[in-house]
Amino acid sequence: MSACIFCDISEGAVQTQMVYEDDRAVVFKDRNPAAPTHLLVVPRKHIPRVAESVEDDAGLLGHLQLVAGAVAKREGIKDFRLVTNNGRGAGQSVDHLHYHLLAGRRMNWPPG
Ligand code: AMP
Repeated sequence: MSACIFCDISEGAVQTQMVYEDDRAVVFKDRNPAAPTHLLVVPRKHIPRVAESVEDDAGLLGHLQLVAGAVAKREGIKDFRLVTNNGRGAGQSVDHLHYHLLAGRRMNWPPG
């Protein structure tokens, strides 16, 4: 076990409802869903938040969006929201970069 729950999930030390895995990313169900479909798209690399990513992460960041699109397509999801919270004031509670993939209900704009 490490200090980071998403690192533990990525490494298989903590079990969760995994829906996709590759060498750079994992996708699993959020344990406290905010929509009928609520997935977390997570890099295996520990990056605390998007603002702490560096130029070398550019490929990885793009990969995460490709994975989100591919998983949505596989799940038959056409409309979805992909969002990341950067910092406590923006709602971030887990300090390991992740994108929320939300679908299955009407999404309001602007988000609260
Ligand atoms: P954020 O608040 O943007 O950092 O999002 C963190 C998300 O991780 C929240 O929606 C939590 O419900 C979710 N979460 C935290 N721990 C786990 C876990 N062990 N398995 C699945 N989802 C989790």
